[in-house]
Amino acid sequence: MILVSRSDPSKEICRSAAACRVCGGGDLVRFLDLGELPLVNRYLSSPAAARDEPRFPLEIFFCRTCSMSQLGVVVDPRVLYAEYDYHSSVSKTFQAHCDAMAASLGAEFGSANQPFVVEIASNDGCLLTRFKERGCRVLGVEPARNLARLANAAGLPTLNEFWSGEIARRIRAEHGPARLVVATNVLAHVDDLRSFLRAVAGLLEPGGAFVFEVPYMVNFMNRAEFDTAYHEHLSYFLLRPLVRALRESGLALADAQEFEIHGGSIRVTARLSAAPSANVGRLLAWEEELGLHEEATYLRFARHVATLKEELVAFLGAIKGRGKRLAAYGASAKGNVLLNYCGIGRDLVDYVVDDTPAKQGKLYPGVHLPIVSRDRLRSDPPDYLLLLAWNFVDELLRNTSDYRARGGRYVVPIPSLRVL
Ligand SMILES: [Zn+2]
Repeated sequence: MILVSRSDPSKEICRSAAACRVCGGGDLVRFLDLGELPLVNRYLSSPAAARDEPRFPLEIFFCRTCSMSQLGVVVDPRVLYAEYDYHSSVSKTFQAHCDAMAASLGAEFGSANQPFVVEIASNDGCLLTRFKERGCRVLGVEPARNLARLANAAGLPTLNEFWSGEIARRIRAEHGPARLVVATNVLAHVDDLRSFLRAVAGLLEPGGAFVFEVPYMVNFMNRAEFDTAYHEHLSYFLLRPLVRALRESGLALADAQEFEIHGGSIRVTARLSAAPSANVGRLLAWEEELGLHEEATYLRFARHVATLKEELVAFLGAIKGRGKRLAAYGASAKGNVLLNYCGIGRDLVDYVVDDTPAKQGKLYPGVHLPIVSRDRLRSDPPDYLLLLAWNFVDELLRNTSDYRARGGRYVVPIPSLRVL
């Protein structure tokens, strides 16, 4: 299947992925169908933009050959990333994560002789600035124009480019090889995974390392994080297929650590050559134990997701039936998947609160709910607040202590329906 642009039908904006991104095989089985969704990070500035909003199928396939889970359609990255409204620096939880990551990597890779650190998809420079403070030479590569501009204005040199072999060669020729290449939350977005990894291998100095963080499929399955599936997230990583993808790209998986961000991720360290740590062995055995190499596990998961949807929609409908008002908090991408998949729109929810100024005043993709600032909770309080950024629940509860003090209630939809 190929979809084309409505304004320019000659332009292909999405294509079907026929072969597995890791093993190249064609033995893929669809296990999760979330329907046709809009681009969840494409916040709409006007009702007119809402009328032309494209929608794409959102389906996840499991590879019976190598256990890699992946989307069935790939939306053109130029459509997805030209402007991007996710600013890393807005979330305090994410800032604290950047602090901890820079401290731990800084200790491991040293700050003597101004090591060269390159970050791929460096966003607004949230992490890069911490490496710079530690005396590293830094360079960001960021495809979103608005974010690259912000980073450069803040004194963090950033190329406004997609990562590629050509960019890696250019960086190496101008700056020398890198001690450390970092990529947080980007690998899942990459269509041509092997070219991407080969380009990283080509930039590393002999003792250097590629450290990347990706959401971990184990958490996705165990905690029913189906709402973290959206068109930008092409791959859903287990360690087993990752070992293979790295090896075939000239890298060796050295270590993997689990940690809590974006619903549970792994930080993977790869080097040009290395033996896997004991932790890698432990995680590989865990994936096996959980049945994550078996198709039946995924089909069971899909049935569970359908049940969650039914329960949430029934609960919100019942609240509405009692004449209560409902708003949502956290106009996140995942929240958008949840609302669109469950068909929760203006009939149930009045507005969505978000603390990112760039999102306020816009319409939430697909469901077209107005995005407003936190002040609205004071001037026009709902009875229930649906928490869409459930991975930042503690932060959201702190942010809304006034609302809570006045008797406001919360609905947390995932991993299972809770009312606070
Ligand atoms: Zn495969």
